[in-house]
Amino acid sequence: MAEVGVAAEDEFTASTSAASGPDLLSLHEAIARMFAERGDWRRAYEHLRSALDIARAGSLRDPLTSSYNRRYLDQRLPGLPAGRSLALALIDLDRFKHVNDTYGHLLGDRVLCRVADLLQEELPPDGFCARYGGEEFALVLPGVDASRAVRIVDAARTRVARHPWSELQPGLRVTISAGLAHASSGPAGRVSAQRQLLRADNLLYAAKRAGRNKVAYHDRETTRVITHSE
Ligand code: GH3
Ligand code: MG
Ligand code: MG
Repeated sequence: MAEVGVAAEDEFTASTSAASGPDLLSLHEAIARMFAERGDWRRAYEHLRSALDIARAGSLRDPLTSSYNRRYLDQRLPGLPAGRSLALALIDLDRFKHVNDTYGHLLGDRVLCRVADLLQEELPPDGFCARYGGEEFALVLPGVDASRAVRIVDAARTRVARHPWSELQPGLRVTISAGLAHASSGPAGRVSAQRQLLRADNLLYAAKRAGRNKVAYHDRETTRVITHSE
């Protein structure tokens, strides 16, 4: 197993100590207890509410990457307006097992964090990224038309491929594959989010089969799978 780069070690230490900063939730809880002991129920309630808000927001985030998690995705998808089109991409890191096996799981974790950051760059205002599970992410782009969705997802793919990964670990290369399913809104509404996720998943496998580091999507006229690569 190769040694983890020193720069990466420093960066990880800095990010974990930032994450373990003041625990606001516990602070609100302690203040609520103090007010409750004095019989000031209104203030105690306010602080418990704040603690609850923090806990609820935390339950929708992935603890490793801080991106939204599957629970957030499952809550948001059904609520997206049926009168708007929706682009949905499933993204999977390429040969990620090899990264773990070669450099260790700790470095693999750092790679996942960086990929999550890169995916979240330059998203349209309503768009979001959620960790779907393991080394998979979902990009959700409401109200984005098909060709723009391809540009956005392919730009994310390029950002990951061109990232200076060797600064994190000499010799490291990371790429992603994406399956992008676009659903237009019609008189009968849109296809269900579940069905769209299934389409995106099938397209993701098409991108993998086509050699990885690619975006697969259906062309509007021909429903042919097209892949982009550098
Ligand atoms: P493919 O290009 O076909 O996707 O190959 P792959 O190696 O990425 O796919 P495979 O499903 O064989 O391996 C996925 C790996 O992702 C295995 C698993 O240990 C790793 N993984 C999943 N979640 C995490 C995580 O949170 N941290 C780390 N370090 N690794 C993870
Ligand atoms: Mg996978
Ligand atoms: Mg993978």
